[in-house]
Amino acid sequence: MSRIVYVNGRYLPYAQAAVHVEDRGFQFADGVYEVCEVYGGSLVDEAPHMARLGRSLAELAIPEPMSMAALAHVMRETIRRNRVRDGLLYLQVTRATGPRDFAFPPPETERTVVCIARPRSLESLNALAAQGIAVKSVSDIRWRRSDIKTVMLLPACLAKEAARKEGAREAWFIDPDGFVTEGASSNAWIVLEGGTVITRQISPDILPGVTRGTLIGGLAQEGISLLERPFRLSEAQAACEAFITSATNTVMPVVRIDAVTIGDGRPGPITQQLRSRFHQFASISAG
Ligand code: PMP
Repeated sequence: MSRIVYVNGRYLPYAQAAVHVEDRGFQFADGVYEVCEVYGGSLVDEAPHMARLGRSLAELAIPEPMSMAALAHVMRETIRRNRVRDGLLYLQVTRATGPRDFAFPPPETERTVVCIARPRSLESLNALAAQGIAVKSVSDIRWRRSDIKTVMLLPACLAKEAARKEGAREAWFIDPDGFVTEGASSNAWIVLEGGTVITRQISPDILPGVTRGTLIGGLAQEGISLLERPFRLSEAQAACEAFITSATNTVMPVVRIDAVTIGDGRPGPITQQLRSRFHQFASISAG
């Protein structure tokens, strides 16, 4: 089936979907994005994703490109036209296209909006989760506003490539004090003996993950205690369980951090419980 991409008001075949060379996303990484899971044809946690998009735009003084209701329509239509049942939806908004100038263009200049939906196999994702993944620690070289979901993802690309070269699927960023901030494209969690779950508190140092927020609600439902605080790499390596969360992975077990095996090297029971229950904790929009 041919893929269709939404670009600035038009639904175009994949090969023709393009933005201008002077788009500020391309020139300056002056844009934001969202990634949502599509599950059974529906968007997962649409409302918090839209709320975070609104916040990212506001923090960078990028005017909303259209109403949130119109954006939600574009997202649904992109899913529909690509007949995605299980997959991912990417939405990018950049400030504008225009002659290269660091200073912002007038606020009435049109934003660039791109929406891409693609299917993926839940079977292979679940097979990966049954094994668990390895992560590699790297120093956190990002700017000091990691709470904004910008398209400026070069530190994440460098970290993931370094991880890949060592057979790891994710990188964990380490702050100058030796604490884990988050994954290159996920939030980081550990489980201590006794079953307490730890994840770093929200601050400008991490992205407030939508999956993170949903899981925190789920922990309360499951009667699992949570502490939101920083943890060191050494504490993570000594933990009973570790996992990451993101819209692309939901809950993904971590079984190795650098050279150290976590627990017995298999996904832990609390992680597996949270993964299997995740879609009950989330809100799934009608298609
Ligand atoms: N942190 C970073 C740096 C990310 O890129 C992502 C993925 N977007 C996350 C955390 C997880 O966020 P979410 O649960 O909203 O996908």
